[in-house]
Amino acid sequence: MPTDVLVLGAGMVGACTALQLARRGHSVALVDRQAPGRETSYGNAGIIQREAVEPYAFPREWATVLDVALKRSVDATYHLDALPSVVPQLMRYWHESAPGRYAAIARDYSRLIEHCLSEHDALIAESNAAQLVRKEGYRVGFRTRAAMDAAATNAADLRDRYGVRFELLDGDALARAEPGLHARLPGALHWLDPWSVSDPGALVDRYVQRFIDLGGRLVQGDAASLQPEAQGWQVRTTDGPLQARHAVIALGPWAGELTATLGYRLPLFVKRGYHRHYRGGPGLRVPLLDAERGLVIAPMAAGLRVTTGAEFARIGAPSTPVQLGQAEIAARELIDLPEPVESVPWLGNRPCTVDMKPIMGPAPRHPGLWFNFGHSHQGFTLGPVSGRLLAEMIEGSQPLVDPAPYSPTRF
Ligand SMILES: Cc1cc2nc3c(=O)[nH]c(=O)nc-3n(C[C@H](O)[C@H](O)[C@H](O)COP(=O)(O)OP(=O)(O)OC[C@H]3O[C@@H](n4cnc5c(N)ncnc54)[C@H](O)[C@@H]3O)c2cc1C
Repeated sequence: MPTDVLVLGAGMVGACTALQLARRGHSVALVDRQAPGRETSYGNAGIIQREAVEPYAFPREWATVLDVALKRSVDATYHLDALPSVVPQLMRYWHESAPGRYAAIARDYSRLIEHCLSEHDALIAESNAAQLVRKEGYRVGFRTRAAMDAAATNAADLRDRYGVRFELLDGDALARAEPGLHARLPGALHWLDPWSVSDPGALVDRYVQRFIDLGGRLVQGDAASLQPEAQGWQVRTTDGPLQARHAVIALGPWAGELTATLGYRLPLFVKRGYHRHYRGGPGLRVPLLDAERGLVIAPMAAGLRVTTGAEFARIGAPSTPVQLGQAEIAARELIDLPEPVESVPWLGNRPCTVDMKPIMGPAPRHPGLWFNFGHSHQGFTLGPVSGRLLAEMIEGSQPLVDPAPYSPTRF
């Protein structure tokens, strides 16, 4: 059977795009240069963030920006040599985070997030992946009463506007809920709706296996070889050249390299992040975000995974896991972390856009070419939703949500 669609990139976003197309009866080849789910979709905190109705904004408080500039923050840091290319994007990110603009962006964002559980649920069930998923939410722990009060006010506002659910725990209730914590914190906010995954890369694998079971082809190849053809698109793979009428670029942080060669100047940048696992200590029942230090401690199959905030650096620049060292110190104030599992920390790249929304839709100047990337902090959450939206756009069927706010033409 001839291939209808080439999907380039087998992270959470590409895997879900391929699967959503295959479920609708299309003949699809999923192309990656390595095994599926080995990059950003492997190393994240594994939270399906139903509460993340508002995307991660650029901080508006000058004190926070100054802390980052002076490298006093654990949450965010930067490479000096990346600044010439990153600062223009960060200025646009800051501009889009101004209250009025941000409110409109958050409305568009929430329309995707609101479908994340139902879309994952369908794929989890078909892929026999239920044992990887905890449906118990996650907690935000606070070191100060003031931070907890501010977060509670914000959470109540999100509940009233978007219907997301949470519970506040005082110090005793948190200690009872998470007996592994040795720190006595003032309390925590428990987001009740999100789910968490004990091995994010394995969930991508399950989705890809389901895609293969439905007749999809997983092929090794380099997306950089993509070429337009009279009848559509061609890519070189280890199985030889593959042609299809449609091609979807779902290369996450690497999407900008390919789209630039096709003449698109999209405002993309990466926020790098690190993780390391620890074994042999107490566990946690659900992930814990240490809000004031910007790290997550997540219970995973491989041990407790500590993940970091943002490092602004060039994609492919050498690893500088300073932030992870600081995050480890902060995490050890909360829980014992005896044995690191990896000698070298994992490093990944959150694929970000200046207006915080993913880029999904037809390429403006290339018929049959589609974009699906830029999912920033929530690509693991949004893979099934954006995969479905892309499949519906390619088919021309009624889309789950209006795709206009995510169109590549908006820049
Ligand atoms: C520390 C950290 C914590 C995070 N926590 C969460 C979280 O809790 N919840 C959440 O929703 N999101 C989280 N995220 C964000 C999330 O991980 C990303 O948004 C998401 O994984 C992006 O998925 P993707 O499929 O777009 O990209 P990727 O997973 O990076 O996939 C891109 C794929 O493209 C392939 N590729 C690249 N170049 C080529 C080429 N030339 N040829 C062929 N293939 C190529 C790669 O091999 C890769 O498989 C976190 C990110 C980080 C870094």
